Amino acid sequence: MTQTILDVTDLKKHFPIRGGLFGTTVANVFAVDGVSFSIAKGETLSLVGESGCGKSTVGKAVLRLFPLTAGQVVLNGTRIDDMPAGTLRPLRRQMQVVFQDPFSSLNPRMRVRDILAEPIRNFGLAKDKADLDRRIAELMDKVRLPRDAVGRWPHEFSGGQRQRIGIARALAAEPDLIVCDEAVSALDVSVKAQIVNLLQDLQSELGLAMLFISHDLAIVEHMTHRVAVMYLGKIVEVADRKSLFGRPRHPYTEALLSAVPVPVPGAERNRITLQGDVPSPIRPPPGCRFHTRCPYAFDRCRVEEPLLKDTVPGHLSACHLNDMPAARNPLLNNLPPTAFRAA
Ligand code: SF4
Repeated sequence: MTQTILDVTDLKKHFPIRGGLFGTTVANVFAVDGVSFSIAKGETLSLVGESGCGKSTVGKAVLRLFPLTAGQVVLNGTRIDDMPAGTLRPLRRQMQVVFQDPFSSLNPRMRVRDILAEPIRNFGLAKDKADLDRRIAELMDKVRLPRDAVGRWPHEFSGGQRQRIGIARALAAEPDLIVCDEAVSALDVSVKAQIVNLLQDLQSELGLAMLFISHDLAIVEHMTHRVAVMYLGKIVEVADRKSLFGRPRHPYTEALLSAVPVPVPGAERNRITLQGDVPSPIRPPPGCRFHTRCPYAFDRCRVEEPLLKDTVPGHLSACHLNDMPAARNPLLNNLPPTAFRAA
């Protein structure tokens, strides 16, 4: 049986907006509004969506970087969402993060050796100095940096090398889960590919579970096992990579995928351009949150919220189109929205 490392149920994070004379809550930003997923040992789940959809907030909530509004987060069988900070501290070893910006995520006043030694010391992982040195040398090997670079400062490295140091720092704690928050977004295309390959190699070597937060579907298509698509604080589709990229079952995913460049010269995807802006997370639309931009929206979408449910086993989607007979579902028949409306 596959071991579940992370199990998230109905996670909510609402940020209050305060105003008035007494600083009372006048509204809420519904950043994450009922998100559920799980990640198994050795598995990568990618969380994708446009900027502002709540995906990074999910990552931070899982890491317990702030208190949650509601929901349950279980790490390696232990519930951590309501755990006091003191009790949570030793469990933090099990979940580490790699941030987007390799330039600001490393302390410029610490040499690489000290950056890597910090988590090893904090979690009491080394028996003595020789063990500490051995662990640091092994971490440099793992991320394919020369061992003798441990005496250098962060500014002496390129962006890609710094991100390798960030990965080594995450690995230093011997985690079971790594949250990669746009970890390759700030890098050049060729360096991006190298870092993604490194993450994949480390995952198979160490059996890591990975939550890969990204807006870059071309990268995600290359490296993930499963994908969860977020829109305005909710997951609207989850499936394994092949199923989601092969046959999306939500109009939002269909539109996102239509913008991904096809790696075959001359080949094209029919680009779907979404109209309008993403609505404010302070006042999400009623019914389906995507209805204000969905090219297929019909009356039911404006009043009834679609539930995230299986369309085929393991491929979940929150869209009323999936309740239609397959022959009429435009997503399954490559019917353009105009043809769907006319039918
Ligand atoms: Fe579009 Fe309606 Fe499906 Fe929402 S439920 S994605 S508005 S068709």
